[in-house]
This record gives sequence, structure tokens and C-alpha cells, in this order.
Amino acid sequence: MNKQHIIDRFIKYVTIDTESDPNNSAFPSTEKQWDLAKVLENELKEIGMEDVELDENCYLMATLPSNLDYEVPTIGFVAHIDTSPDFTGANVKPQVHENYDGKDILLNKEENIVLSPDYFEDLLQYKGQTIITTDGTTLLGADDKAGVTEIVSAMEYLIQHPEIKHGKIRICFTPDEEVGKGAHMFDVEKFGAEWAYTMDGSQIGELEYENFNAAGAKVTVNGKIVHPGYAKGKMINSMLIASEYINALPEDEVPEKTTGYEGFFHLHHMEGEVEKTTLHYIIRDHDMDQFNNRKKAMLDLAEVLNAKNGQKLVSVDIKDQYFNMKEKVTPVMHIVDIAEEVMKDMGITPLIKPIRGGTDGSQLSYKGLPCPNIFAGGHNFHGRYEYVPAESIMKASEVIVGIAQKVAVKFN
Ligand SMILES: [Zn+2]
Repeated sequence: MNKQHIIDRFIKYVTIDTESDPNNSAFPSTEKQWDLAKVLENELKEIGMEDVELDENCYLMATLPSNLDYEVPTIGFVAHIDTSPDFTGANVKPQVHENYDGKDILLNKEENIVLSPDYFEDLLQYKGQTIITTDGTTLLGADDKAGVTEIVSAMEYLIQHPEIKHGKIRICFTPDEEVGKGAHMFDVEKFGAEWAYTMDGSQIGELEYENFNAAGAKVTVNGKIVHPGYAKGKMINSMLIASEYINALPEDEVPEKTTGYEGFFHLHHMEGEVEKTTLHYIIRDHDMDQFNNRKKAMLDLAEVLNAKNGQKLVSVDIKDQYFNMKEKVTPVMHIVDIAEEVMKDMGITPLIKPIRGGTDGSQLSYKGLPCPNIFAGGHNFHGRYEYVPAESIMKASEVIVGIAQKVAVKFN
């Protein structure tokens, strides 16, 4: 694969602003996501993809037909076109640093913004490579335009190399992943793949098929306001009851004290006055039983406080958000094994670890499309220090080609 061609393609995508918006219920959440979707629609037609179709919800699908004379499963590759609303994605000015020397990278001279391996030691594994960074004032958008670049480049490569044998491949680019809706309007039936991979992981080698079970919990505490001078026996301060609630949850089961498979309760936002206090939690756990226990614990705690106060002051509203894709992927574990074997064949060490979050793949897996996640190559997503080595984009693209080849061989 031609490195400069891939860098040019990536830069073309990241300079198109596609930031999504969590506060807009429209779909897609921002009109500007269409800008990149339309560029991609044309490009897929240009490189020779078939059935190129951009639907009314901004999902772009296309087909690379099989070049085999026997049947193998149709597989898919998925990436998202939007960038995170956590940091601005307007006017991205990518900087290409060739032959990285292992020292600090000056992102922005005027504002003295430096990307340093003293703080981001992962940089050192890319010595000698071509690092693409921001200018320090925006995010880069390697999450997930590296994934988009990898899929387009792999399809182009396969079209230009008909001697490489592969089955039917479907690809899809989705909007609004960063606001948790990337899988919502995904037409799994129309996609028609037996399984797929999201190209949306971070560093080279990442391969993920386990993620959190996730729920959001809103705890409402109602109090009673009375003039403080005459409050004895009458005032109920909802903030103090809320603080009892907070303190009754296990203090070590919080994001800042947990790792690996350890779950947590995370209080991420609260608002309060005497009359009413609201606590906003997220609940996370890889294990379904423990996940259910956590939800029950939050409900039970409300009842304990209500009993203590002799009236119903505390109520809890819990909503499931997504589930661990492991349940859907382990019955078809060969789809992970294939990706792992391809990486090993290429000399890439697979980094298989549980995701402490969710991916579009987890929702797609529950919609009937088992969908592990593969590295897209970037680091420090959602901020000014985001970077991606061009070599990692190339490797991820080669992993896609390798998976296509391996499926053709395995199912012969
Ligand atoms: Zn992403």
C-alpha cells in the first residue's frame, strides 16, 4: 500500500468537520456529517465499489463483490464518520512529522503546546515512523477517520489486486457514534453480513470483543423548605439525604479506583437545593449478574433511606444503555480468532482486553450482527493531543485485506 496516498486520504477526511451533537435529537445530530458522507459516497463509486448507497439517515453502505467460485460468509467492516463533541473538530490542521525522533513534538509554537513522550510514553513505540498530529487547537479525528481511511484503502487495494481472493464484503460508515447513536438506525438486514468488525480501536494490535454492560441511574431526592429559623422538626434537606445516599455506595467501586473487569458506580453530575436534589450516575460492569446486582443495590438503598425517614423521599430511575457483546460473540468465536491469526501472521502482537466502555459493535451485536472491534491506530482520542502513526493506518488496512483473504481460505 502506498503510504503517501493513505496519508493524503486521511488528511482529506479529517479536514472535513463532522462533530456530532449530544443535545440535538435530530438524526444525524449535525448536518455537517453529510459533507463527509457525500465525499465518501463519490469516492466509493470512483474506486469501483458496487451498491453504493447513502440512506436518509446518513448511513453509507457499499459492496465489494466476491471473486471466488465458491460460497463463503459475507463479512462487513464498519467505521464512524463523526468526531467527538468533547473537543472542537472545526478547522483541523493536521501536521505530518516524518521519521519521528523520539523527542517532544511541538504542536503549537504560539501557545506552546507540546506532545511529549515524557507524558505520553506510547509515542516511543513509533520512533522512526510518520506521526500525524493536530496543531494543538483541535482534536485530530483519527477516531474514527483512521478507520474510514483503512476501510476505503483496503477496498481500493482489493479492487486493484484481483489476484487476492475474497468473498463478498459489505462496508458501512455511520453517523453519530460519539453521541451513542451510531447503531440506532443501522439496518442490519440490509447490510446482510454474517458478522462484521468496527475499525474503531486505539493502538496497533487492539482486538476487543468484551465491553461493559451499561445503565444510567437518576436518583431524585425530595426535601421540604422551611425558614431556617423555624425549621426544627419541619425542614427536610434533600442535599443531606443525597449525601447519605452517595456515601452508602461502596467507596472503592468508582472509576478512579477500578480497572480491568472491575465495575463501578459513577456519580458524574449532581444538582441540589434544599427542596430537591438530583444525582446522575452511570453503572458499569462486564459481568451481567454483578451488573444486575448493582442496579438492585441502587434501588434498595433508596428504600433503606425511605424507611429511615418514614416517607418516600428518594426515588431511582434506571435505564439500560448497552450490554456486553461477549454474550453474542463467544458463540461465534472464530470471528475473533480470524482477526487474531491475521495480526499474528503480520507480526502484530494482538492486544485482547476488555473495553471499559462500549462500542457501536456492542449494539450491533445485539441487533444480530456480531461485531468485534479492531484497532484504528490512533492515541489520545477526543482531545488536542490526539495522534496517529501513518504506519498503523496502513497496518490496519492490511488487517482488513488479511481477514478477507483468510475467510476465503477457511471456508473453502
Ligand atoms: Zn470511535
